[in-house]
Amino acid sequence: MTEKIGLKKIRESGLIGAGGAGFPTYIKLTSKVQTLIINGAECEPLLETDKTILDIGIEDLIAGVKKAMELTGASEGLIGIKQKYKDLIKKVATGLPKEIKISPLKNMYPIGDEHILVREVTGKIIPEGGLPLDVGIVVQNVETMYRLGRLLNKGEPVVSRFVTVSGDVAFPFVAEVPVGTPVSLLLDIAEPRIPLELAKIMDGGPMMGKFISKDSYVKKTTSGILVFSDREKVIRQRSRDLNAIIRISRSACIQCRRCTDFCPRYLNGHRIEPHKWMRNLAFGELIPSEMSYLCSECGVCELIACPMDISPRLVAEYFKKDMTEKGTKNENYHEVPQEICGFHELREISTDRLMEHLDISKFNVHPAFEKLDINPRRVRIFVDQHIGSPSKISVLKGDKVKKNDNIAISEISGMGVNYHASIEGTVSAVGDNYIEITR
Ligand code: SF4
Ligand code: SF4
Repeated sequence: MTEKIGLKKIRESGLIGAGGAGFPTYIKLTSKVQTLIINGAECEPLLETDKTILDIGIEDLIAGVKKAMELTGASEGLIGIKQKYKDLIKKVATGLPKEIKISPLKNMYPIGDEHILVREVTGKIIPEGGLPLDVGIVVQNVETMYRLGRLLNKGEPVVSRFVTVSGDVAFPFVAEVPVGTPVSLLLDIAEPRIPLELAKIMDGGPMMGKFISKDSYVKKTTSGILVFSDREKVIRQRSRDLNAIIRISRSACIQCRRCTDFCPRYLNGHRIEPHKWMRNLAFGELIPSEMSYLCSECGVCELIACPMDISPRLVAEYFKKDMTEKGTKNENYHEVPQEICGFHELREISTDRLMEHLDISKFNVHPAFEKLDINPRRVRIFVDQHIGSPSKISVLKGDKVKKNDNIAISEISGMGVNYHASIEGTVSAVGDNYIEITR
C-alpha cells in the first residue's frame, strides 16, 4: 500500500476499539501523548484472542502500533503481555523496533482495566473518573492495532475479527470470522456439550461479558463467545436481577465492606466505596450514588468479594444508567489520588484463583488457533457497534455488494465510523440498525 493513511482513512475503514467499548479509534488517535500502551492483558479467563494475534499477526500489529505512535506523537510503545507467556514474549520481542517494548504483566484480574494497566506498566495513577490521556497515555487493544496494520499493509477495512469460542464445548477454538457471522454457526463448529435450551451464551469473558441469544451475531467488539450450562456457578451468580439483589441486600448485607476492600479501583486510591451504597440500599434508599461513576463493572465485588452473594456491581450499573438518563454528571469525583492503597498487592486476585473460585478451571483448555474456513451464508452487520451515533445505511435491499464495499457511512459530527460488507452477496434485508447480506 502506497496510499497515505491518515485519520480520515482510519475512520472510513470502520476501525473501533476491539476490546469491548467500541470507541472510534480515529478519535483516540487525535490525542497527543508520550506513551502508547497496547493492551494484551486479556485478563478475562478462557479468552485467548489477543494471545493468538500476538502469535500469528505480529507484522501487522507492529505496523499498526508504529502508525498510532506517529499520529499521537508517542515516543514509546509498550505492549502489555502476561509474563507467564514466556515463549510468546520471546517470539514477539524478536521483531520489535527499538521504540516498541514489551511490558510483562502479572497474571491477575482485572489487569486489563486501563486504570490498573497504566499503573502496572508505568507507575502512573489515572485520576478517578479520568482517562489514560490525563497522564499522557493512550491505550489501544491488540486487535485494534492489528486491524490498523491490515489497513496499512493490505488496504483492508474492518470486515473480520478473531474470536475465542470456548466454555462447555467439545471443540474450543480461536478463529478469524467475518463481522456479522451468526453465533449459531460458531456454536455448531464448537459443539456445546449441553442442549442449547439449557445453555447460557456470553459475548465476552465470564466476568464482564454480556448474555446473548444463540440468534446473535459477531460484532467488531466480540472477542469471545462462551457457552455454559445454566447450572454453572458463574452463570447463577451473573444471572441475578436487580430486584432480587435489592431485596436480598436489605436483609443480607452484613456491612463487612469486603466489596470495598477488594475493589480494584478503591485499591487504586479512588474514592469508591461500594459498601456505602449497599448500606443506603439496606435502609431502603435506591438513590443513585455519584460515587458509582467510578465503578468499572469488573465484577470483583459481586463474584469474588461478597460473602453474601450480593452484587454491588449490578446496583452501580443501575445507578449509572439512571443518572445518565437524567443528565446527572460526575461532578465531585475527579481527584488525583495522593497514594494507592498499601494493601493492593496483598489483595490482587490471580486469574488461576479466580477460575477456581468460579469453578471454570475445567474449561481452561487453551484453545488453538484454527485456520477454519468460516464462510457464513448470511451475515448481519449492525451499524451501531461503536460509541456515538449510528452510521447511515447506504445500500438498499436487493443491491449486490462485494466484500469490503462500503455499506454504511459515518457522520463526522456523530463520532461514527463506516461499515463494510464482510462477504460478497445480495443485501437481503435492511433494518433500522442493521444490514443483512446473503451469498
Ligand atoms: S461485601 Fe457484600 S455483605 Fe459485605 S458490605 Fe459488601 S455487599 Fe454487604
Ligand atoms: S464492579 Fe465492584 S469491584 Fe469492580 S469497580 Fe465496581 S464496585 Fe469496584
